[in-house]
Amino acid sequence: MEKRDYYEVLGVAKNATPEEIKKAYRKKAIQYHPDKNPGNKEAEEKFKEAAEAYEVLSDPDKRARYDQFGHQGVGGAAGGGFSGGGMSMEDIFSHFGDIFGGGFGGFEGFGGGSSSRGGRRHVNKGSDLRVKVKLTLKEIATGVEKKIKVPKYVSCTYCKGTGAENGTAYTTCTKCNGSGVVTRVQQTFLGAMQSTTTCPDCGGEGRIITKKCPHCAGEGIVREEEVITLNIPAGVSEGMQLSMAGKGNAARHGGVNGDLLILIEEEPHPDLVRDENDLIYNLLLDLPTAVLGGSVDVPTLDGKARIKVEPGTQPGKIFRLRGKGLPSVNRYGVGDLIVNVSVYIPENLNAAEKKQFEEMKNSSNMQPTLTTKQRIFSKLRHMFE
Ligand SMILES: [Zn+2]
Ligand SMILES: [Zn+2]
Repeated sequence: MEKRDYYEVLGVAKNATPEEIKKAYRKKAIQYHPDKNPGNKEAEEKFKEAAEAYEVLSDPDKRARYDQFGHQGVGGAAGGGFSGGGMSMEDIFSHFGDIFGGGFGGFEGFGGGSSSRGGRRHVNKGSDLRVKVKLTLKEIATGVEKKIKVPKYVSCTYCKGTGAENGTAYTTCTKCNGSGVVTRVQQTFLGAMQSTTTCPDCGGEGRIITKKCPHCAGEGIVREEEVITLNIPAGVSEGMQLSMAGKGNAARHGGVNGDLLILIEEEPHPDLVRDENDLIYNLLLDLPTAVLGGSVDVPTLDGKARIKVEPGTQPGKIFRLRGKGLPSVNRYGVGDLIVNVSVYIPENLNAAEKKQFEEMKNSSNMQPTLTTKQRIFSKLRHMFE
């Protein structure tokens, strides 16, 4: 299914302020909140869609990438094992819980606040990991699989991430009965208002460890090196960031993993320069070939291509080798290899060669014709238009 534009999802303009985005999200979140739409799958999807849009647009960094690259820029679009979005309800509440809390004037809230779903335990979120990956243009042309070793926090296997010895040495918190939140009822001029806060005894986790796991000192996570396979899609470019959901650091006490963020770096090619999806090659033609014509080889990403040079080829002539550039990261279209001709003027002539040029000097054919002059001038004019 085609992903909708995040601005459209929230119903805001592209230049909306952070405050407008927050307000728009709050409105959608309340409209589609599961408490208001029990059992309504469509509402749940809309609720998740809005949360995903807000996650990106509320983060200046992610928003800038989204503006530039679209869903791909924030790991949203198809391809290569990268999954963006797809947040679970738990993620949403652990992420944006504050937006539903008492912090926005109370009265616009929905019946019972967050406690009406039988209590939502606080879910720890692991931090994101960032890695840089250096790629050659050849790798970018085809897409590439890279294995990288990443030191990171992983879930402790001895306690299954709980932090409790054997994964069992904990009890349900008695203060909140395991819900992780405590509810207070306050009388206001609008009537009784409920407010929920994190349980102070268990820190919102709903349980209390009675004996810590000795392998992870009760944290539920340990430091390890993990080999991660990255499937880099074709067509990525310098500065682009891809994300792999859940491949970041594991969270304390069995929470939700962070993401792995992959920053793309491009290795310069010895001959070819990239211009978006096109590649540019500067062909320095020798004078006799420019004058007499011939065939020359130009480098491509997968070898070389032969091009035919007509007699009388002028500097500034451009050859376009269709489809010899880079594919678009969005999977449609491939760029071209653009060959830009310059002509090498010999600098060190011997006496015999000098004589040959002297002899040619007075030939009228050595002077540009009026039409050639006009052609070159009109080309220049087009360049600056
Ligand atoms: Zn452990
Ligand atoms: Zn508690």
